[in-house]
Amino acid sequence: MIIETHSHLSFPDFKDDLPDVLKRAREKGVEVIITVSADILSTRENAKIAKQEERVFFTPGIHPHDTDNAKEEYFREIEEILKRDKLAVAVGETGLDFYRNHSTRKRQEESFIRFIDIAKRLNKPLVIHCRDAYSRLSEIIESEEAGIAGGVVHCFSGDYNFARTILDNGFFIGVGGTITYPKSNAIREVIKRVPMERIVLETDCPYLAPQAVRGKRNEPSFLTYIIDEIALLKGLSNSDVARVTSLNASTLFSLGVVNPQSVITYRIRDSLYVNVTNRCSNKCVFCRREEDPIVKGHLLKLGEEPSAERIIEEIGNPKNYDEIVFCGYGEPLIRLAIVKEVAKWVKAKGGKVRINTNGQANLIHKRNIIPELEGLVDRISISLNAHNAEVYEKLCPSEFGPKAYEEIIKFAKEAKRFIPDVTLTVVSLEEVDIEKCKNIAESVGANFRIREYNVVG
Ligand code: SF4
Repeated sequence: MIIETHSHLSFPDFKDDLPDVLKRAREKGVEVIITVSADILSTRENAKIAKQEERVFFTPGIHPHDTDNAKEEYFREIEEILKRDKLAVAVGETGLDFYRNHSTRKRQEESFIRFIDIAKRLNKPLVIHCRDAYSRLSEIIESEEAGIAGGVVHCFSGDYNFARTILDNGFFIGVGGTITYPKSNAIREVIKRVPMERIVLETDCPYLAPQAVRGKRNEPSFLTYIIDEIALLKGLSNSDVARVTSLNASTLFSLGVVNPQSVITYRIRDSLYVNVTNRCSNKCVFCRREEDPIVKGHLLKLGEEPSAERIIEEIGNPKNYDEIVFCGYGEPLIRLAIVKEVAKWVKAKGGKVRINTNGQANLIHKRNIIPELEGLVDRISISLNAHNAEVYEKLCPSEFGPKAYEEIIKFAKEAKRFIPDVTLTVVSLEEVDIEKCKNIAESVGANFRIREYNVVG
């Protein structure tokens, strides 16, 4: 399933062939569409379209360009629609556009603040437009506590600092056709760093057709071009991008169209991940396993821990994947016996095995377990996450206390003796001295990898 979060189906561009446009979208897997309003007339028209067409939702709002013409009664009418119409899933389009300045800045700001208030009171997300007004929009989002309502900044065009502010305030980022344009390197660099779990797809049709069809009228079926580009940027498959962004959109707009089931194995790119446990000896400050145990659209909360037989059954043929990765939201080596049994079977079948670990297995099992992994594991990725024990304690408090950090380095050194490929990883947080971590990896003889904060899988 693909969800289009920002189209303008009420615009005259679709007057003659809307049924064909929707049919082409369905044929490409775009099963759910949100049509966004720019003024009171398009709000009324979108309400009609959403009522007529299956799996089309709408958002009532007034675009910043139109705020000079917005009468008091329009705001009241929009609030009434949001209260009574279940298909009205968000407030917008609203925001600031200091590029074209079609309406005065004062009116744009007043309208934006008014819609933030409505969204907070009615518990609906905001659909925000922002062009050349990044710092003012950030100020308003923070001063008005717009994060209480949440929402999306659509057709994202700011820099990474703006993206960070948006993400820190709980907003999603809408990615559309501009990401496919040759001159959009800066946007692509920002989107590379934004967690997939915070991206939703949009065309903004009839505008901004992707590069491959540039010059044509844009339409929801063209979302596939945007998926191609994001997949390339993120090193994911197209189905990964579709699955994650659909869950994001369904959750953000409370559409109820995607309900993830918990999984034991899950595919990302060409690897198969194995979710053996949700237990862990750490409580990392950045870990989302308690409150939001979803990785790349897969729900990793386990009802019960799976047996080796169950995992083997789910894997099927290990040679269908680049590698079988023991990962999940939890420390896989807590279940050492199960990991060894499954890894032995994978190797016997000609597959490859990787383990992602916090490096505390020797403390957990009170013995050196590394020699037991010899011949069973091809690659091991150990989370170092800090340049010294003090910072580690702060970011990744362990049940083993301050000694955990030194033990992780010892674990990595020992791994180098028995496992062909050893990598130390760090999450890019400002408390972490990346250069020092890199030196530690070098001294151990391990590879080194930086993981973007909040990016899992
Ligand atoms: S080690 Fe991994 S699973 Fe454990 S708390 Fe930290 S991030 Fe979460």
